[in-house]
Amino acid sequence: MAARPGPESIALLDRFVAALKAGGLVTDAEIEEQVARTDEANPEIGARMVARAWTDPDYRELLVRDGSAAAEAMGVSMAGMPPLGVLADAPGLHHLVVCTLCSCYPRAVLGYPPHWYKSAAYRARAVRDPRGVLAEWGTVLPEGVELRVVDSTADYRWMVLPERPAGTEGWDAARLAEIVTRDALVGVALPVVA
Ligand code: FE
Repeated sequence: MAARPGPESIALLDRFVAALKAGGLVTDAEIEEQVARTDEANPEIGARMVARAWTDPDYRELLVRDGSAAAEAMGVSMAGMPPLGVLADAPGLHHLVVCTLCSCYPRAVLGYPPHWYKSAAYRARAVRDPRGVLAEWGTVLPEGVELRVVDSTADYRWMVLPERPAGTEGWDAARLAEIVTRDALVGVALPVVA
């Protein structure tokens, strides 16, 4: 688990923000707007994007080609956000997202990252032993499925487009979105039909 920031970290952040404001690089209003946007974001946005992709081939094509444009198409403002990339699972291929360096995460469409995503253990083990990490979520990939681990960075934030599970034929997008969890959007879990 990531440690809570200590007083030194908070004082350093305060001095950094004060320097940015003094240099005219950022305003209080801009900081507040960014915090409000992140506070409002949550994994239901990503889930709605996946569910729409499962029911609308044109949207799926856009989502895989340009995740940021696909988010904008759902009413999400991506201004000032790093580009969103979408990793499409396929038969025989599964993706797992990690930020090995810190905690880069597609906050605009998933909200704040969970604590485990920021932990040193996840960041290291997702690379060293990805199948072992998945097993701890109870996620077992069928034999022969390739597991691709993809690093989110400050330049590109990744989200997984899982495969639409069997047993969801005829479901509308709203019902489909309910089975797309945050964990499935990171790739540690698969959508499950209850
Ligand atoms: Fe990071």
